[in-house]
Amino acid sequence: MTQYFSAPIDQTDPLIADALKAELTRQQTQIELIASENIVSRAVLDALGHEMTNKTLEGYPGARFHGGGQNVDVVEQAAIDRACALFDCAYANVQPHSGSQANLAVFFALLKPGDRVLSLDLAAGGHLSHGLSANLSGRWFEAHHYGVDRGTGTINYDTVEARAQEVQPKLLIAGGSAYPRTLDFARLEQIAEKVGAYFMVDMAHIAGLVAGGVHPSPIPHADIVTCTTTKTLRGPRGGLILSRDEAWRKKLQSSVFPGVQGSLHTQVLAAKAVCLGEALDPSFKDYAARVVDNAAALSRALQAGGIDIVSGGTDTHIVLLDLSRHGILGREAEALLDQANITSNKNPVPYDVANPNKWVGLRLGVAAATTRGFSASDFDRLGTEIAAIVTADDGSRDQRLASARMMTAELCASYPIYGVEGR
Ligand SMILES: *Cc1c(COP(=O)(O)O)cnc(C)c1O
Repeated sequence: MTQYFSAPIDQTDPLIADALKAELTRQQTQIELIASENIVSRAVLDALGHEMTNKTLEGYPGARFHGGGQNVDVVEQAAIDRACALFDCAYANVQPHSGSQANLAVFFALLKPGDRVLSLDLAAGGHLSHGLSANLSGRWFEAHHYGVDRGTGTINYDTVEARAQEVQPKLLIAGGSAYPRTLDFARLEQIAEKVGAYFMVDMAHIAGLVAGGVHPSPIPHADIVTCTTTKTLRGPRGGLILSRDEAWRKKLQSSVFPGVQGSLHTQVLAAKAVCLGEALDPSFKDYAARVVDNAAALSRALQAGGIDIVSGGTDTHIVLLDLSRHGILGREAEALLDQANITSNKNPVPYDVANPNKWVGLRLGVAAATTRGFSASDFDRLGTEIAAIVTADDGSRDQRLASARMMTAELCASYPIYGVEGR
């Protein structure tokens, strides 16, 4: 049995070990511009890979269904306390296994099957867990959507109000995965109040910006706020449910467990506590400020290179390119950038077609590369290069890609991650 407890993975499972090694190399040698990604600290990785994963626990600190939970209790309570301190809220549930699970638990707490919800349209930047017909949220609830203005690419709150009056939802949802602008939570709260709806904000993408003080907080305005600990918050894969007061505590506690989940991902809980602790450090404010500066620099450089940016810019970490004028599809642009070791994803732009293979948008985000240390001038260079690749004719594209590959190699060497050997 000694081997079982001591042999490293490269000896026991070369297939998986090689994939893990290759993944680390991939991350080290490409520029990550997928807006939902980030690069976690060594401390977060330590927690994720910890023996605490062996511990099974159900319930909440002080009210468990298994023995031996004293150390996990410390971890979960720290995560709760840190989440409440960070977001200035009275209630936090740190157990959701993902952002989608957090949303599902809130639906379970607030709604009955068939109830109406009103959320941001997927093509306008919404999220599939807010009522997509192929998702449980759309199957079990009657989902309606509001979009963005065609001209401005931004949410028109008068239109949202009119939609809310018309739909009379039980729950109004704000937040999305590709909306690059500041959300007016105070106005949305008023709209929800007017139609007698609960108001939930899913701040999955912007949680780190809220924590860092560069985006207004939804906490004072929403009944319930959900988020992921990934993305701008820079933690492990997982979700949080937050509330300004205790009004929903009982419902939310039982909706997460036993409502939609069973036992804890104990090691992830430890990693969540670590990431929340990191976000409480004053340096996190600098990080968040650099994220929005870098996104603005990227957006400006792309526009200078002739690319249309949805909403004309960004207030967040997200820059959404509209490639419809350039005769290139989102998936084609994604594949081209891949050849320059720049990782991104195709995305719908507002009013785009339903078929992902025909989407004309490309979504970029700066959170991960900002964690590496990229500056605004690096993003200026990156934006210029990306615009040149996208707009190049077939004759000059290979040359552009070659020079972009060199830029990527140089930037990745300037800002290494995890050291040569990883951990
Ligand atoms: C990413 C995201 C989620 C889902 O998070 P998962 O952890 O992938 O389930 C939910 N809502 C929004 C708005 C998101 O951007």
